[in-house]
Amino acid sequence: MSEAGGRQEEHAGMNETTKLLAVFKVEQKLRGLRSRLDAAERFLSEQESQLAKNTQQLESLASQHRQVAASTKENEDEIARIDARVEKLREEMNTARTNKEYQAFLVEVNGLKIERGRVEEEILALLEKSEAIKAEIEKIEHDRDERDSVRKIAKKDRDTRNKEIEGRVKELMSEREELAAEVQPRILSDLERLLREREDEAMASIEVLDRKRHEISCSSCMMTLPIEVLSTLLSGRLTLCSNCGCFLYIDDDAVEALQPASKR
Ligand SMILES: [Zn+2]
Repeated sequence: MSEAGGRQEEHAGMNETTKLLAVFKVEQKLRGLRSRLDAAERFLSEQESQLAKNTQQLESLASQHRQVAASTKENEDEIARIDARVEKLREEMNTARTNKEYQAFLVEVNGLKIERGRVEEEILALLEKSEAIKAEIEKIEHDRDERDSVRKIAKKDRDTRNKEIEGRVKELMSEREELAAEVQPRILSDLERLLREREDEAMASIEVLDRKRHEISCSSCMMTLPIEVLSTLLSGRLTLCSNCGCFLYIDDDAVEALQPASKR
């Protein structure tokens, strides 16, 4: 006999609640698997967006660095122009015919010396700026490299998880299909709606508050349930919590709690 056939036969003796619970349990497993993958997916995309930010920062810094280099070059050219002019003036001073002429050259030379000093200061400031930008670039490159290692690990983790669950999800999906086929479509769609609205609380076990007095409550909303609920549940009929609307069932703990103390 095939495995599926055996499973179906097993289910033939099951009551409505047990059949629905089997679907619910598989749904929970599927959700658990997917939530782990979702977490890995989120972590990876965080790393990727941080990396994109680093890349953007580096581009902006590189552009600032180019601007500073261009300004430095302009100032260096200016110094070369000043030096050439001063040299020319000194030659002319040597051939000055009058003191007045000589003095005029001297005034221009002195003016150029002051200008040269100012340009040199500007170059120094630009060099400082350039160093600061370089240091910032190095820091961000380091961050980016570290981030990239984390991203690689995160990607591997995501891919591994995806691979891991791929097969299991497929298995569970076909298991779910098999189990769902045994539940009335109307009830199944109720469960699907509850899963969307309440996730893990779509079905809840009863809790036995007092065995002798048949006092039970819904473990999802904690509200006390009418006594009839227990007999309906025990008969295997589908039962909803009259308060929160979830499907009720009796889990192993509740089964045990319902046993007379002598049988435990
Ligand atoms: Zn409830």
